[in-house]
Amino acid sequence: MNKLKMSVLGVALLSVVGCGGETKEVIKEVEVVKIVEVIKEVIVEVEKVDRKQKTGIVLSIDDGVSLPFLLENEYLFDKYGAKGTYFVSGFNHGMSQDLIDLQDRGWEIGLHTQNHYNAVEYVAEHSAALWLQDEVKKPLKNMSLYGLEVDSFAYPFGIHSLETDMQLKPYFKTVRGFGGSINMDYSEGFYEDGYFYFGVSVDSLWLYEEALFAAMETAKEKGLTLVLGMHVISEDHDTDYKISPEDLEKILSHASSIGLDFLQMRDLGY
Ligand SMILES: [Zn+2]
Repeated sequence: MNKLKMSVLGVALLSVVGCGGETKEVIKEVEVVKIVEVIKEVIVEVEKVDRKQKTGIVLSIDDGVSLPFLLENEYLFDKYGAKGTYFVSGFNHGMSQDLIDLQDRGWEIGLHTQNHYNAVEYVAEHSAALWLQDEVKKPLKNMSLYGLEVDSFAYPFGIHSLETDMQLKPYFKTVRGFGGSINMDYSEGFYEDGYFYFGVSVDSLWLYEEALFAAMETAKEKGLTLVLGMHVISEDHDTDYKISPEDLEKILSHASSIGLDFLQMRDLGY
């Protein structure tokens, strides 16, 4: 890319040096128009290379408690050819085989810490080093011993700081925050800086179908990535952090009907 930029500048310089009479002035103007066009093309290419944006939707599911519900409803994802990212907390031997099987079926397994503590509070009360050691590095090591390949991280409660983001950087390709849509606006799910991504909640309590569908259409039209977060897939589980299978299917079906690709967190990041 630098080479191309240099050659463009070279042409510009030659045309300036060579312009003595009227005829040459005209040639120079034509050259300049061409150069501007080339530079514009170069800028567009640079933006594409730098941003590496992907058009699609990420369906991410958080928490250890959600695992059996995800397995029970995996057929819904399969029906639409969708694979998502499952962020496990409280990793233990008992769930390892289910996670390996999920991974083998094309799901991404990410880390959601060992004990689901608020990262910022934990760091303030103890230290960043202790949080990293106990909540991140320890489960990461255990998961890798079972053959799980973990590239992505999601913050418990979506709470993070620049300090925790930086602590995680050597271990993950992307980290994900989380929060409900504000005023039924799902555009927060487009927020990213190539490392930190915001996952907007689609748990049923915070789900506004029309606004979500509009955001999905914007993702498709503008070539953006929309990151969504959800928890237990169940109608009646005793928590607010749940999405009904019906609501989940509406999201899957709409994405599929507008031709929006299903991505995973490991597909993002640059
Ligand atoms: Zn969580």
